[in-house]
Amino acid sequence: MTTLRHLVIGGGAAGFFGAISCAQHFPDHSVKILEKNRQLLSKVKISGGGRCNVTHACFEPSMLVKNYPRGFRELMGPFSRFQPRDTVQWFESRGVLLKTEEDGRMFPVSDQSESIINCLLNEAKQKNIEICLEHGIESIDCMPSGFSLTLSNGHSIECDRLLIATGSHPKIYSILEKLGHSTIPLVPSLFTFNLPDSPFLELSGVSVEVAEVSLPQFNVKQMGPVLFTHWGLSGPVVLKLSAWAARELHQCEYQTEVKVNWVPHLNEASLKELLLNTKKKWAVKYVGTESPVDLPKQLWKKMVSVSGIKEEERWSNLSNLHLQKLIEQLRSTSFKMKGKTTYKQEFVTCGGVPLNEVNFKTMESRVVPGLFFGGEVLNIDGITGGFNFQNAWTTGWIAGQSMGR
Ligand SMILES: Cc1cc2nc3c(=O)[nH]c(=O)nc-3n(C[C@H](O)[C@H](O)[C@H](O)COP(=O)(O)OP(=O)(O)OC[C@H]3O[C@@H](n4cnc5c(N)ncnc54)[C@H](O)[C@@H]3O)c2cc1C
Repeated sequence: MTTLRHLVIGGGAAGFFGAISCAQHFPDHSVKILEKNRQLLSKVKISGGGRCNVTHACFEPSMLVKNYPRGFRELMGPFSRFQPRDTVQWFESRGVLLKTEEDGRMFPVSDQSESIINCLLNEAKQKNIEICLEHGIESIDCMPSGFSLTLSNGHSIECDRLLIATGSHPKIYSILEKLGHSTIPLVPSLFTFNLPDSPFLELSGVSVEVAEVSLPQFNVKQMGPVLFTHWGLSGPVVLKLSAWAARELHQCEYQTEVKVNWVPHLNEASLKELLLNTKKKWAVKYVGTESPVDLPKQLWKKMVSVSGIKEEERWSNLSNLHLQKLIEQLRSTSFKMKGKTTYKQEFVTCGGVPLNEVNFKTMESRVVPGLFFGGEVLNIDGITGGFNFQNAWTTGWIAGQSMGR
């Protein structure tokens, strides 16, 4: 049997999983991880607020792919081979138990990202994977068989197969372009919307369980929890929208209209009927203090005031004009987005190696034989909830398994 030399560039989630998978499937081959920094798995460490949201309890590949604005088509095959159930089993069989939170996010039972890091480090040690820190890659040259890499310290190193798992670090793309790959420009995903001029900012801290938020300019909408912050709008539904419209929002420099329907379960006619009934039922009550819809008090008051209605107006006196304005506000409050804010320092990058340049059965480049990809270096990103790590585990695992063949 030929002993192949495998190099993995990047000591993050995808790099570790790729290296471990390669060493597991081909125990006679040599596997080395080159990491440019002094720390390994640094994003795993800070992820999920230090708890590491390892994956998501979504075990049906066709449902799982819906959480990837980029990569949903290509990941279908890989997820049918290595999906969250395999991730859970992989960690649990190595003593790291995972728990599922109400919203489906999965964390180590310890609530410590160190549990994940230690598990990966132990596994790499057991499999004799060599790890070289402060080994940044400066260039890659193709050889008649294999690759020659120049390192930031001026040294060079050769290998037969190469896995690129450098995350969204921009430097690798110019190196890959010299090998014939192209790059889809990098733009951020997963952020909250700044609404600096909005009178709603005083509602900071108020949340609504189900609202429909849309970006009319790009014809995208999402439904779910929304939260007012002191700078604008946040919450799962806003993060989802930021991911699905990441490129368009970047193009318009984060200046666009945002609309919110606070009562998405009511159509216009049923909302009107509800308000007309309220007029009769609560005739002498004040509009500002008695809300017929299930909204936080402060938000209802705001709806009333921005509709031009006095708080102490009695329901019986509500004019048709004001009633119509209230309906419009409840169904379509308009905000002007001006800029974005990173969510808890958690972000991912949209863009990277184009997916049509990669064979998703093996994760091998279609441009350079012997070159493999895993993780965020690809033009794949998921919404928040553990989906980005799952991409790293899955693509890293498949790349490692294919490299030694
Ligand atoms: C604060 C934060 C919190 C997050 N929390 C979560 C979460 O809870 N759940 C989730 O699913 N996702 C989360 N994400 C996203 C997730 O961390 C990434 O999608 C994931 O880490 C990607 O893994 P990767 O291995 O592809 O890249 P990375 O984790 O970025 O690893 C790439 C590695 O390659 C190294 N490298 C880069 N260039 C070179 C080079 N030229 N030579 C050598 N080495 C190089 C880097 O130093 C790095 O160590 C979070 C992101 C951030 C920023």
